[in-house]
Amino acid sequence: MALIVQKYGGTSVGSVERIQTVAQRIHHTTQEGNTVVVVVSAMGKTTDTLVNLAQEITTNPSRREMDMLLSTGEQVTIALMTMALQERGQPAISLTGAQVGIVTEAEHSRARILSIKPDRIKRHLDKGQVVVVAGFQGISSQEELEITTLGRGGSDTSAVALAASLKANFCEIYTDVPGILTTDPRLVPEARLMEEITCDEMLELASLGAKVLHPRAVEIARNYGVSLVVRSSWSDAPGTRVISPIPKPRSLEGLEITKAVDGVEFDVDQSKIALLRVPDRPGIAARLFGEIAHQKVDVDLIIQSIHEGNSNDIAFTVIKNVSRKAEAVAQAIAPVLRSHPSQSEEAEVLVEMGVAKISIAGAGMIGRPGIAAKMFQTLAEAKINIEMISTSEVKVSCVIAQEEGDRAIEALCKAFDVDLVPKPLVAEVVEASPPVRGVALDLKQAQIAIRHVKDKPGMAASIFGVLAQRNISVDTIIQSQRCRILSGMPTRDIAFTVGEGETDAACQALNTLAEGFDEVIVDKDIAKVSIVGAGMVGQPGIAAKFFEALAKENINIKMIATSEIKISCVVPQEEGVKALKAVHQAFELAGIETVEVPV
Ligand code: ADP
Ligand code: ASP
Ligand code: MG
Repeated sequence: MALIVQKYGGTSVGSVERIQTVAQRIHHTTQEGNTVVVVVSAMGKTTDTLVNLAQEITTNPSRREMDMLLSTGEQVTIALMTMALQERGQPAISLTGAQVGIVTEAEHSRARILSIKPDRIKRHLDKGQVVVVAGFQGISSQEELEITTLGRGGSDTSAVALAASLKANFCEIYTDVPGILTTDPRLVPEARLMEEITCDEMLELASLGAKVLHPRAVEIARNYGVSLVVRSSWSDAPGTRVISPIPKPRSLEGLEITKAVDGVEFDVDQSKIALLRVPDRPGIAARLFGEIAHQKVDVDLIIQSIHEGNSNDIAFTVIKNVSRKAEAVAQAIAPVLRSHPSQSEEAEVLVEMGVAKISIAGAGMIGRPGIAAKMFQTLAEAKINIEMISTSEVKVSCVIAQEEGDRAIEALCKAFDVDLVPKPLVAEVVEASPPVRGVALDLKQAQIAIRHVKDKPGMAASIFGVLAQRNISVDTIIQSQRCRILSGMPTRDIAFTVGEGETDAACQALNTLAEGFDEVIVDKDIAKVSIVGAGMVGQPGIAAKFFEALAKENINIKMIATSEIKISCVVPQEEGVKALKAVHQAFELAGIETVEVPV
């Protein structure tokens, strides 16, 4: 007999018939001798309908009233589901987030769970009842008991948090697709079902646009070792297992606000190679990295920042012993890469040996804007200049001079109260995962570029500091390679992406910074296409294949940012879906059957 938490999403409970079908499945699970806690979402598109109702009254509703409104959706489902269970002769009781003691921060519309008091649920379970809990909502712990919501898609998080606090044997997420697929089947019907995926890969995919799981749910599963599976509400097929490493025991207090950073990582003996003024047109990155892959050189970070006029800079790092080889390739290709055929000026190659990469890693940084800013601030206070920045959802990496390494490690370990963690051996990672597990598309981001930021310690810290103060989450931060001397002061560009809805707030925040850069440029028409796979570590040629797939479709790359297990390219928005399809095909991710998605 097992204790199982089952979560059913909006489409799965979208009508009375579907609620009855789900009730049948729950009943079946208890009849097999299991104890079941059910978490449900609002029916069908209810949450969207409620959002639209509010928009008809005001374009700027208060977050508190939105929580009051949106939390009603789930409450309808718990009552109906419980009635359907009782009708089948299954004892059951519905409870709201507050009634089961899901205590959250007082942050409306994006509250994090602080703790869950499982006593009441346990009492009902002991009586043989199924407990049906409203997902997505909680209650604040302060004197005023405020209803809060966890953010869109948050029912997954409610379910996994309940599973962690009840120490359930399994948490099953039932949805409208057969499990986690290589990409969104609504965009690519040939997407293939995965049998399993690691938490780290799923964290990246979820944060890069695969909404099948809320990233915070994956984070909790990883931190507490919850056995998580994503399955179809309409079939008995096994679905996809989300595998987490065996975690260190940790307290259930402060559930979602435990340490944001798990550790500091350090890679020495790297070299940075930059190509300046390469033409801003499709096929350039493909050509460069194709040639590098051909020479079997493994590239680590790749960064292409925003273009300047009609040319770009592309920078990458490699381990030092292959840097001569990588440089030779870059030198050989540079004469061919002219901004314009009529121009005599060719791309310039810069090599810097003896750099190091220092990273902070941890799933807790998702949606917590202050973490990257704190890293930049810490380095600034230690007077360490950041030469390159590349971020992913769960990691921020900075390239710095190697001789500053020890000081950087010490400062960061102290600031985040963590240790330096040894990196897993490449062989271990590669064995476990394919180079590309899945691909994702995010159409809801905007790109913000800050031109001519003074190249001195502290600039990144103050830029991302003001954004963090306003709770604006930024993503894919990159700092360009090209250094321009303006009035005797070296400057570089910094670009990043933010959620589309936060663009104006981000610009306002940046404008409060009186000096340090020249201008802020916004591009809302972007799409971010990403490939994710833990097995890409140590495998030359993956980036090249990605860029080639885009080049074949004549899609221009506006920005490139990488981490060990993902590569993201920003492309024009209207090319997003085409890019996703091309990349999915290039990595041969298609399955035999197409996936039908119910409405
Ligand atoms: P629920 O209401 O059950 O929580 P969601 O709509 O939040 O369901 O998430 C399921 C949807 O996620 C699918 O219908 C699919 O369109 C989308 N999706 C995006 N990326 C993926 C992926 N890689 N695998 C599966 N589904 C995906
Ligand atoms: N009903 C909420 C939403 O649509 C939460 C969820 O379904 O996970 O975002
Ligand atoms: Mg969902």
